Amino acid sequence: MTSTSFLAPVLQSVLEAVWEAAGCCERIAEDFQKQDHHTKDDASPVTIADYCSQALILQRLADITPDIGVVAEEQGGELRERPDMCARVAAFAQSVDPALTAERIPDLLDRGNHPGGDTGTFWTLDPIDGTKGYLRGGQYAIALALIENGRPVFGVLGCPRYAADDSGRTGVVFYGGESLAAAMVTAPGAKPRAVHVSEALQTCDAKLCESVESGHTSHDRSAQLIEKLGLSKEVVRMDSQAKYAAVAHGAAGVYMRLPVKKGYREKIWDHAAGVAVIQAAGGKVTDLNGKALDFGQGETLKNNRGVLATNGALHPPALAVLKTITPAESAWE
Ligand code: AMP
Ligand code: MG
Repeated sequence: MTSTSFLAPVLQSVLEAVWEAAGCCERIAEDFQKQDHHTKDDASPVTIADYCSQALILQRLADITPDIGVVAEEQGGELRERPDMCARVAAFAQSVDPALTAERIPDLLDRGNHPGGDTGTFWTLDPIDGTKGYLRGGQYAIALALIENGRPVFGVLGCPRYAADDSGRTGVVFYGGESLAAAMVTAPGAKPRAVHVSEALQTCDAKLCESVESGHTSHDRSAQLIEKLGLSKEVVRMDSQAKYAAVAHGAAGVYMRLPVKKGYREKIWDHAAGVAVIQAAGGKVTDLNGKALDFGQGETLKNNRGVLATNGALHPPALAVLKTITPAESAWE
């Protein structure tokens, strides 16, 4: 269990790095150019903001926890082949840290090449989770978690476009872990507010949160769950791990990922921070069979199928309904 004595000196620095990355991503969004966006070999989008966010956070982690490896989503290879893109990344990164030159950035990005595993401690980073959301003006998250012996023990979710109340103000950083109660801040250095799931939520008032992308989760089967469990008819669709944040602070009762592609395994950086935050807020996360998510298997959750995150109270009834609507993987298309 990560001790408070480890987290205390690094917490403010980590939060500051996430705010800086968030600010950079938003400045890039305001000045976005066609060539700032590229499609990776796996057909997923990547932007200069993904690289900029990763570079800023990896530099900070190198400074504060130099002996802890990082499993990060992006690599430096593509920027070595695209000097123009690399120069744009450096221009934005240097507005925060002048040492982040175009020459240094690819090597710095490659510092995120730790293989993961079930023993020891490492960070995992998704510099922009929900790049599709980022590009369409929707939600995205800067997601950083500390994994110890296969468990996420601390997580930060920077959600630059998220509004946690009706004030109209956007931009929230959520954080929490095994030795740190969940909290949120709405500005760098602001007073943290406690974050808790909504325990007393009536099932019929509980909203389900799911991905905007029907290629990432089955909207059809979640509609069945809503019907059979009697959840609210109002579905919250949003990109990124902001969905975990929504359940963590009581805006939703359930977040589900119902696999649609045979053989797809969730990436650890798509879940670790969200899991740490929601558990610290009193919620529960398992796979669709009720198994704990195993973050000790390299880059993917290869021992798990799908994800169910709830306020805790809704977990047993949701698992019971899922048993009746989740086909065996061998039956998928
Ligand atoms: P979301 O914003 O919830 O749609 O999730 C975005 C994440 O979905 C990306 O970071 C991808 O790593 C991940 N992803 C990509 N393909 C799939 C897939 N076939 N099933 C589930 N998740 C996926
Ligand atoms: Mg992601």
